Amino acid sequence: MTIMNAVLQPQRLIPAWQAALTGSFTRPAELLAFLQLPPDLPSLRLAQIRDFPLRVPRGFAERMEKGNPDDPLFRQIWPSSDEDVLNPDYVDDAVGDLHKLKPGGLIHKYHGRVLVIATGACAVNCRYCFRRHFPYGETRASRNHWRSLLDELQADETIEEVILSGGDPLSLADDKLAELAQGLDAIPHLKRLRVHSRQPIVLPERVDDELLDWLTGTRLQTVMVVHANHANELDQVVAAAMARLKQAGVTLLNQSVLLRGVNDSLDVLKALSERLFDCGVLPYYLHLLDRVQGAAHYEVDDAVGKALLRQLSGHLPGYLVPRLVRELPGKPSKTWIHW
Ligand SMILES: *Cc1c(COP(=O)(O)O)cnc(C)c1O
Ligand code: SF4
Repeated sequence: MTIMNAVLQPQRLIPAWQAALTGSFTRPAELLAFLQLPPDLPSLRLAQIRDFPLRVPRGFAERMEKGNPDDPLFRQIWPSSDEDVLNPDYVDDAVGDLHKLKPGGLIHKYHGRVLVIATGACAVNCRYCFRRHFPYGETRASRNHWRSLLDELQADETIEEVILSGGDPLSLADDKLAELAQGLDAIPHLKRLRVHSRQPIVLPERVDDELLDWLTGTRLQTVMVVHANHANELDQVVAAAMARLKQAGVTLLNQSVLLRGVNDSLDVLKALSERLFDCGVLPYYLHLLDRVQGAAHYEVDDAVGKALLRQLSGHLPGYLVPRLVRELPGKPSKTWIHW
């Protein structure tokens, strides 16, 4: 660990990203004051968000426009009073994952690849998140579970790719992740290691030497799927983090969610794709919102989504147009929405 990457603490060195996490906004009033927003902006009461509290890294909040309650980054994380509106079409487990979950946090829905719920923790709490009601306490793959997880992967030769997901798998410490990566490396039929993480976007400090060590110290091909919904999320610090990943040989892809008031316009989607490409990242999926309770105010009509993609493909090269998808329970892959 270089001294630049670490902050001196009384007893030990902790990575800079963990120090940055500790400084995140968790109190609505503090965030409002920082953003110069009115203290009485409509929101849920604290008691209503105990299970899924406000959580925003300071560096992400700095990318929001001061005094603008409609800022597209702010809209993604603000526990608005709209969450309280119950909608009968919106459920707790919108994608049917709970039926597929095995002990140890393994979800095997699609051929050849498995998803590992490595942890329930995230650096940021996105209010539209489809896993916001997930019972992580019971399902998380703890360090002790990894032996049984590795045994299961070893036993199934049809699996070629392991996807670390969550929550955000990069919430785990690098020594734990390194141990897991080594275990995966030793399973001969595995070819690829994929990480689904929003941290390179919301907490770019996370991309440090220790992370790159285990990510590049494997014979497996590595893929990082980040999650950004708006070009404003990708500032210079994020661009530098992406450049480091790319230089290390990691394939970089992005998935977004189509969100009302955040990215439901041609200009915003176009700017996002172009900015991603500036950062060495290709757009992969644009997800239609999963109908999870409390997120109805983010929904964009399917017809609007299709029209946007039609327009986008008229303005950009094909490789900058993400696939419009929805996750439907019981299907063998994400469902492509043809526009
Ligand atoms: C989305 C998802 C994947 C990955 O799907 P790709 O189309 O390969 O990106 C794998 N497993 C589960 C359970 C998923 O939800
Ligand atoms: S980072 Fe991902 S898993 Fe975590 S709250 Fe946001 S969308 Fe959900």
